[in-house]
Amino acid sequence: MTTTLPDVHQAEPIPQAAWEEVQALLTSADLFRYTAPENSPVARLETAFAEKLGAKYAVAVASCSAALFLSLKALGLPRGAKVLIPAFTFAAVPSSVVHADCEPVLIDVKDNYRIDIEDYLRKLPDADAVMISHMRGHTSDMDAIMQAADAAGIPVIEDAAHSLGTLWNGRKIGTIGKIGCFSFQSYKMLNAGEGGILISEDADLIARAVIMSGAYEHNWKKHPVLHDAFAKWQNELPLYNTRMSNLSAAVILPQLDELERRCVDGLRNHDHMADLLNATPYFNVPPALPQETRAPDSIQFNLVGFTDDQARGFVQELKDRHLGAQVFGLSTDNARAFWNWRFIGPQGPLPQTEAMLVRACDVRLPVRLSLTEVEAIAEAVIAAAETAKMAKAA
Ligand SMILES: *Cc1c(COP(=O)(O)O)cnc(C)c1O
Repeated sequence: MTTTLPDVHQAEPIPQAAWEEVQALLTSADLFRYTAPENSPVARLETAFAEKLGAKYAVAVASCSAALFLSLKALGLPRGAKVLIPAFTFAAVPSSVVHADCEPVLIDVKDNYRIDIEDYLRKLPDADAVMISHMRGHTSDMDAIMQAADAAGIPVIEDAAHSLGTLWNGRKIGTIGKIGCFSFQSYKMLNAGEGGILISEDADLIARAVIMSGAYEHNWKKHPVLHDAFAKWQNELPLYNTRMSNLSAAVILPQLDELERRCVDGLRNHDHMADLLNATPYFNVPPALPQETRAPDSIQFNLVGFTDDQARGFVQELKDRHLGAQVFGLSTDNARAFWNWRFIGPQGPLPQTEAMLVRACDVRLPVRLSLTEVEAIAEAVIAAAETAKMAKAA
């Protein structure tokens, strides 16, 4: 009866090619991206990533949070500028806004984990920028978002930290807004432990981001952006020193070739589990939007017809089964529940997000899992719901 469940926090092994490159780096001790005159691992990652995404420029940095922060700085937003963000995202997002001396304004999120476009349109006229988190890879309606933002002349930053490989109308997510930001933290599609990258078509904006990331003196000359774009910013901008190390880039580079396969495996695992959960009366897994091709490495679903006590009972059952699953709004101090972002002050009302968070369940599904392992996880989740529903306490 006791099936051992897979460890949902374990990623795929790092490809062998990275081992060789890391060993060479340890021997040469050339870990700083700007020591070599050209072709450092970080520079090669920027070129390869931009090419893969079909973007003109990329800047690799220490984290996606740093990429989001630099994006706001590179846009030249004044102190106190209002930045719209979804009310359902990771705490790093409002944090990056605060870090950039801007003010986050939360958009209500529906029970399909995407922003409420009506609330967005209501709040857009007072905003200076928009930062859309495709939270857990769920893409909000980018057609509606871009149309309104473009008409109002308001820049859109895509937080695609968890969306690498997702398509919207066949276009790569992260290339639709003015800037796209991605994460290489271990729970994302490409794993370097930590790391981030931003992409854009705008040479002037990229020049500012490069300098502020820590390209001091004339290190910007090692970036393939027009020198004219850089020259006028020489000594004009602060240096936040949030560069990527060559070690991280060496670990990421060979994983780029794995991306397509990882996206296919992740979607297969997600859709199989979604079918199993949707076949029960307990759960609803919101479908992808028609324009969207997903690249998930986790699954989110809503509890259907649960009282508060039953939902809490379900959380306890998950815990007892050591599943590593959670209901966002019912776990203590969850970093994705907006009421725990006390550093931005009181927010709201955000009734749809609040209702969603106390019924939305989150289970990691690393792409390395087999379908049999996915089935074991689904069975355990369903058993937890059955037991919780059976309890007479409610
Ligand atoms: C992981 C994540 C981040 C933060 O990425 P870091 O690289 O850890 O800074 C931001 N936004 C979303 C949606 C994420 O999933």
